[in-house]
Amino acid sequence: MSVAAPPSLVFHRVGRPLPSVARGLGAELWDTAGRRYLDGSSGAVVVGIGHGRAEVAEAMARQAAAAAYVHGTQFTSEVLEEYARRLAVHAPGACRKLYLVTGGSEANETALKLARAWHLARGEPGRHKVVGRSISYHGNTLATLSVSGRPALQAPYRPLLTSTPRAAAPFCYHCPLDKAYPSCALACADDLATVIEREGPETVAAFVAEPQIGASAGSAVPPDDYLPRVAETCRRYGVLLVADEVMCGFGRTGRWFAVEHSGVAPDLVTCGKGMSSGYAPVGAVLAREGVVEAVDAAGGFVHGFTFSHHPVTAAACLAVLEILERERLVERAALLGARLAARLAVLRARPHVGDVRGRGLMWGIELCEEPSARRPFPRARRTAERVTERALEQGLVVYPSTGCAGADGDVLMVAPPLVTTDAQLEEMVSLLERALGAEGL
Ligand code: PLP
Repeated sequence: MSVAAPPSLVFHRVGRPLPSVARGLGAELWDTAGRRYLDGSSGAVVVGIGHGRAEVAEAMARQAAAAAYVHGTQFTSEVLEEYARRLAVHAPGACRKLYLVTGGSEANETALKLARAWHLARGEPGRHKVVGRSISYHGNTLATLSVSGRPALQAPYRPLLTSTPRAAAPFCYHCPLDKAYPSCALACADDLATVIEREGPETVAAFVAEPQIGASAGSAVPPDDYLPRVAETCRRYGVLLVADEVMCGFGRTGRWFAVEHSGVAPDLVTCGKGMSSGYAPVGAVLAREGVVEAVDAAGGFVHGFTFSHHPVTAAACLAVLEILERERLVERAALLGARLAARLAVLRARPHVGDVRGRGLMWGIELCEEPSARRPFPRARRTAERVTERALEQGLVVYPSTGCAGADGDVLMVAPPLVTTDAQLEEMVSLLERALGAEGL
């Protein structure tokens, strides 16, 4: 006689039944019913080094057994110090000072407050505004959601959010300024200067931008000259440049940090996701040393969380960093990314694929009702969600994103682990084609 499972007391994130994960290895997952899945999106673009790496689990267990927790105002730990030293080798520009937290939203909250603290330290208390971009995502806390350009996520909480100035995002497929590159002469980059002038430069603390836009714009890569131009604008107005690398950092785009593709040196870099590959909940700010020195000299950073600077998290991140280095996974992301690009390009021939965009192992496939006019499906059709469900039925995990075309817009994020094999890559794209076909796309 079989006994019915008790009803779940978990407040789940979605209303439909979810498979229960049993284990993972590399780019594959198995559920408790024994079904196999290919992780075509690394969860939410998180798992760089692959699932089931015992080496990371062992490093975490060793640290947990030795000293699992200390408060960041009472102790440091050798593992955290070692991690900061090792990460500094890869950090963009002079962003070598590590502030470890527990998620990407916390990382961006920390960066916004650090930018403010820096201006206070320099005697410019009027600078408090953070400029975001029209299409962007920086987190789900109230401050980071305020800075984001995600109307559908913001709508229910509008009365709780602060109004944030926004510059046009470098999102060429749905240009917010209705222009086309290169004849636009990079008007979106120039829009930053316009916004800063309008707000009053003496009130602006920071500009936050994803060097490769994540799910909000389905992996849009800005034109090469975009980041250098906005960096120059920030410098001119004394505004700190915050590069949000929560999704695109840690090798995902074929460089340690996506900002490296442009040669720009940001003031603050925010990290998360691939930093621990999901083995521990993590986020971080990498700050330019001069910023930290100024804030420290003025009395220190009034900030912190119970679980910031966590030793077990640091142990996970250090083990992940060692694997990324030893297995040359960042270089592999570039190599594999070129193969994935070629394979995904074939999807362009499908009747409802409007765009295939990305770099490295971070790609977005935008589905349109009428690709020639870049016209999206109506949101009510739930196109991205439906294809995602079909894909899961086929044993493929992809990450849906919506809202890149006003209230509409359907994107499938394809971002496999950096350890995916060629055969798995092939299988992922075949399964994706099958899922699209099942939805008549
Ligand atoms: N910034 C970017 C670019 C992201 O993609 C995300 C999450 O998807 C965040 C910030 C927020 O990170 P978290 O969900 O870990 O709080």
